[in-house]
Amino acid sequence: MSYQIAIDGPAGAGKSTIAKGLAKKLNFIYVDTGAMYRAIALYMIRKGIHAKDSAAVEGACQEVEVEITYQSGEQQVMLNGENVTGLIRTEEVGNMTSAISVYPMVRKKLLDLQRTLAAKADVIMDGRDIGTCVLPQADLKIYLTASVEARAERRYKELLEKGQEPVLAEIAKDIEERDYRDMHREISPLKQAEDAVFFDSSNMGIDEVMEAILKIKADKQLCR
Ligand code: C5P
Repeated sequence: MSYQIAIDGPAGAGKSTIAKGLAKKLNFIYVDTGAMYRAIALYMIRKGIHAKDSAAVEGACQEVEVEITYQSGEQQVMLNGENVTGLIRTEEVGNMTSAISVYPMVRKKLLDLQRTLAAKADVIMDGRDIGTCVLPQADLKIYLTASVEARAERRYKELLEKGQEPVLAEIAKDIEERDYRDMHREISPLKQAEDAVFFDSSNMGIDEVMEAILKIKADKQLCR
């Protein structure tokens, strides 16, 4: 049986940095499920589909095939055979992703892929519904969050470093809207699984969170 670690939480809490770091330390495969939803959103943007047009979103979903491959240990997302990994990290794609991931058809499309990946190897998978829906039997579940202010500040710095001119208040507003949508959708909303360990990274460093997770994992194995 493969070992499964699920990390859920809102955008900007540090999930992917922590999951990647842990995967390296543990020699696990890192699966970024947000990237899969982002690939579908990119397809919708390219097709000019409006996120509120449920029939169009569901129709377009039938035309999409998402696959995951690995290059030098880095996850690559393939959209109908095209590697779109470098195209999905924009604010436009992020907002579209959150808007279309409310649809059952979109979620159903990715659920099997995610479960298949987790069955093949020891994985650390991050997203919004991994501990609650995708891998309810995961060996270790983490819910990682941080205050809106801390997350907006991190995003602001990232964008500044990229040479952009971000507005902190706009970033915070986007984060709040995305959190609200992800937490209040009908299917697989973002919430802490009952058996997940809670971390708030507002005032904790990435290394500190990683060390704490590794300790919980080691303690859990002792008790088996
Ligand atoms: O994690 P990331 O910011 O890439 O996720 C983008 C969006 O994809 C989230 O805001 C959420 O709406 C959606 N998502 C989801 N379920 C997942 C992963 C991501 O609904 N497991």
